Amino acid sequence: MLKASDHIFTNLYGVHDWRLKGARARGDWDKTKALISKGREWIIQEVCASGLRGRGGAGFLTGRKWAFMPPDDEKTPRYLIVNADESEPGTCKDRDILRFEPHKLIEGALLTAVAIGAHVGYVYIRGEFYEEANHVDAAITEAYKAGLLGKNAAKSGWDFDLYVHRGAGAYICGEETALLESLEGRKGMPRLKPPFPAIVGLYGCPTIVNNVETIAVIPAILRRGGAWFAGIGTPNNTGTKIYCISGHVNTPCNVEEAMGIPLKELIEKYGGGVRGGWDNLLAVIPGGSSVPLIPKDVCEKVLMDFTSLAEVKSGLGTGGVIVMDKSTDIVRAIARLSKFYMHESCGQCTPCREGTGWMWRMLERLADGIGTRDDIDRLEEVTYEIEGHAICGLGDAAAWPVQGLIRHFRPELERRLTKKRIA
Ligand code: SF4
Repeated sequence: MLKASDHIFTNLYGVHDWRLKGARARGDWDKTKALISKGREWIIQEVCASGLRGRGGAGFLTGRKWAFMPPDDEKTPRYLIVNADESEPGTCKDRDILRFEPHKLIEGALLTAVAIGAHVGYVYIRGEFYEEANHVDAAITEAYKAGLLGKNAAKSGWDFDLYVHRGAGAYICGEETALLESLEGRKGMPRLKPPFPAIVGLYGCPTIVNNVETIAVIPAILRRGGAWFAGIGTPNNTGTKIYCISGHVNTPCNVEEAMGIPLKELIEKYGGGVRGGWDNLLAVIPGGSSVPLIPKDVCEKVLMDFTSLAEVKSGLGTGGVIVMDKSTDIVRAIARLSKFYMHESCGQCTPCREGTGWMWRMLERLADGIGTRDDIDRLEEVTYEIEGHAICGLGDAAAWPVQGLIRHFRPELERRLTKKRIA
């Protein structure tokens, strides 16, 4: 269990003042100038030492991502983008940071900007997050007034301007290159990679795109040291993480805990347990809707970190834990997710554009008990034709939940076919 003194997000539930005065009382913006004066190499070194992995889903090492940028020629602009386009079903952690801890994010953005050599940053916020955008906007205004942003930000000698940009509510704009397209004023359609944004990003310039939670933990890492952060969690999965617990639990919530907490403990302790008791559990989607589900027997022991969940062929993703009890029609539930991905596909590449709709229609038929055992095999085959064969990760995100369903609930799919035939 995470020690009280190790919590980074001390206003996660919004019970305290989120404005500058309250944030300062909680330790934000404390000696920011002194941190910056230690230099950008020191900041990068501490972030690398912390072992911080991106909190947006992919879990890439943050320090390494920053190191991909070309050397700073001090002529070419470099940009920082905070990805606040949180849209993954089952995930609502960034939302609470934006609402209740906006100054942690803004201070983190300034420190990151110094590290990567950026003088301009954007917070790209999901369009539906109206109140959240207002809070961030108000906090940025406060920071400018207090001299914490703009010229000589926090009296550090570094100039940094931060802007809020509101998206229009497309899931795909959470993909970093689609986000860049959208920010540049075009349709949010992913770009082919490479080149990666760290080399060719916003307006063709080196750009770092990091998730809200990733940026918001940077000040704590620098104040308390990379070694402190690295001391929390499990090997290669360090630090704290905000988990979102939803679905068939008694007390759905967001909670900050250590990386690697057992899933069962997370559900029982913070989610108030599965509705109807642990034995009523059917399956859990542990990392937002795009990762494969895991059945109850796997949930008993698995740890909530990137490595442990990959070992059971699932993923930590965003840390959005969706709990499903035995009342769930698991085939329909996954079919519903397929419909979501079909709707959100940008349509640029054929496997994703055609495949997502095909998977949804096939799952609807199988949910009704229509089809043959060969159809289940064909469906599985198609998921592997989509996975890894599209421009961005949405194709994979659409394929993985279906793979998880077939891997763990094939008998249920077959039972429906048999039942229909008997009927
Ligand atoms: Fe668009 Fe899907 Fe291709 Fe991504 S994988 S670029 S969402 S069509």
